[in-house]
Amino acid sequence: MSAIDDLPPLREVIATHGLSARKALGQNFLLDLNLTAKIARQAGDLSGSDVLEIGPGPGGLTRGLLSEGARKVLAIEKDARCLPALAEIADRYPGRLQVIEGDALEVDPLAHLTAPIRVAANLPYNVGTELLVRWLTPPDWPPFWQSLTLMFQREVAERIVAQPGSKAYGRLAVLAQWRAEARIVLSLPPGAFTPPPKVSSAVVHLNALPQPKFDADAAVLSSVVAAAFNQRRKMLRAALKGTAPDIEDRLIAAGIKPTDRAEQVPLEAFCALAREVAKG
Ligand code: SAM
Repeated sequence: MSAIDDLPPLREVIATHGLSARKALGQNFLLDLNLTAKIARQAGDLSGSDVLEIGPGPGGLTRGLLSEGARKVLAIEKDARCLPALAEIADRYPGRLQVIEGDALEVDPLAHLTAPIRVAANLPYNVGTELLVRWLTPPDWPPFWQSLTLMFQREVAERIVAQPGSKAYGRLAVLAQWRAEARIVLSLPPGAFTPPPKVSSAVVHLNALPQPKFDADAAVLSSVVAAAFNQRRKMLRAALKGTAPDIEDRLIAAGIKPTDRAEQVPLEAFCALAREVAKG
């Protein structure tokens, strides 16, 4: 019997439902319910919020979110084998867990959620990064979500919170820090997962700012920053050559030296450059 609810322990759930971990789906499960409840607490006060959970798997974090008082959890899971285990959780918390079988990159969850909405997930690395970028770059702000509490490889988490001048500073840092306040709230060794991944992990918590720190168009900023860091060793006048024919003038107008490298450019200057590029 676990400490957080009266459902069976996760090892038993996995054995009962034959949920052997599949590498192709990035399945590294969290089986310690005290740990999943701790991650759920990092998501903030859940009692008045709907929570979108991506990739619930056997439901460790789902149980944490529900036991910590989430008003409703909407969970999107690609692996149909997990659905019976999730149905048992839904029975234990009547009316509070809805599960959609599908690919989170394709399903639109918004019809099933009521604001305020928080997002929590322990996802495969590539899916997590792609979703994070989507959640950070809608045309309008504020977004549908109030906060994101996401597990990443430690190295990716460090890229999200990185500052200019560091190796980890890049597109993720600029996009995350432009419209959100981002911090690493928990570090986890490989042994916290079953099976253990090769690398350490960390939970990043992002709170959506009421408005972006500096004015810029999301699509333009995103493509300028992607191009700048794609060739991060090059000077910006070369890295951004394809962005506009007079890119040197635009860099200067944005207060950036054309000979600088992307790593040295602070968020505010990237936003100024996006505004210059958007002038057409
Ligand atoms: N949240 C569970 C936990 O913490 O134990 C499982 C975590 S496991 C790292 C990732 C989960 O995401 C798996 O259950 C996997 O099947 C699911 N998944 C992988 N790709 C997905 C996708 N594109 N859409 C939805 N779920 C996905």
